[in-house]
Amino acid sequence: MSNLKLHPSLDNGIEPSAANFSGGTLQCLCPTDKVEIRIDAQTLHNHACGCSKCWKPAGAKLAVIAVVPRDKVSVIANAEKLVIVDERATIQRHACKECHVHMYGRIENKDHAFYGLDFVHTELSPQKGWAAPGFAAFVSSLIETGTPPEDMKDIREKLRALGLEPYDCLSPDLMDALATQVAKLNGVLASR
Ligand SMILES: [Zn+2]
Ligand SMILES: [Zn+2]
Repeated sequence: MSNLKLHPSLDNGIEPSAANFSGGTLQCLCPTDKVEIRIDAQTLHNHACGCSKCWKPAGAKLAVIAVVPRDKVSVIANAEKLVIVDERATIQRHACKECHVHMYGRIENKDHAFYGLDFVHTELSPQKGWAAPGFAAFVSSLIETGTPPEDMKDIREKLRALGLEPYDCLSPDLMDALATQVAKLNGVLASR
């Protein structure tokens, strides 16, 4: 189990969040003319993700992805290299067209519970102190991208050993936020 590789930010011990951390930059993996993003805030809800849509570094089973308010995200270099991976997806992932790294994912549907939050991979940052991952989402989806079902027990055990509770959707907090938004839109819950 110990040689099971999940993601470089998990396998070698999780770096703790730094108190009073207020942001930094993310860079794509191109050797030159890197796309660069500035984030003027600490990230929230950082987590491992087993879905098929999130960008993962080479060899990683899971992605590690966090959110940050979209008004704290700005492209500061080589913006012309960014393309949207899938215009129809709920989360529009803006990727570098040369190295294919996703620099930020943005929700344009104003009715979505997570509208206003961009999705980012802080492993792309030279700075340390970003929010540490706190859970694992869409773990069963690993099977959809080729993980043998019989490996899932070891994967969930390893995630728990790292302190990352494995969920097959999002964490209960985030599922509740999604359901609350649906209830508000349907008029069964008063907006607060
Ligand atoms: Zn690139
Ligand atoms: Zn994902």
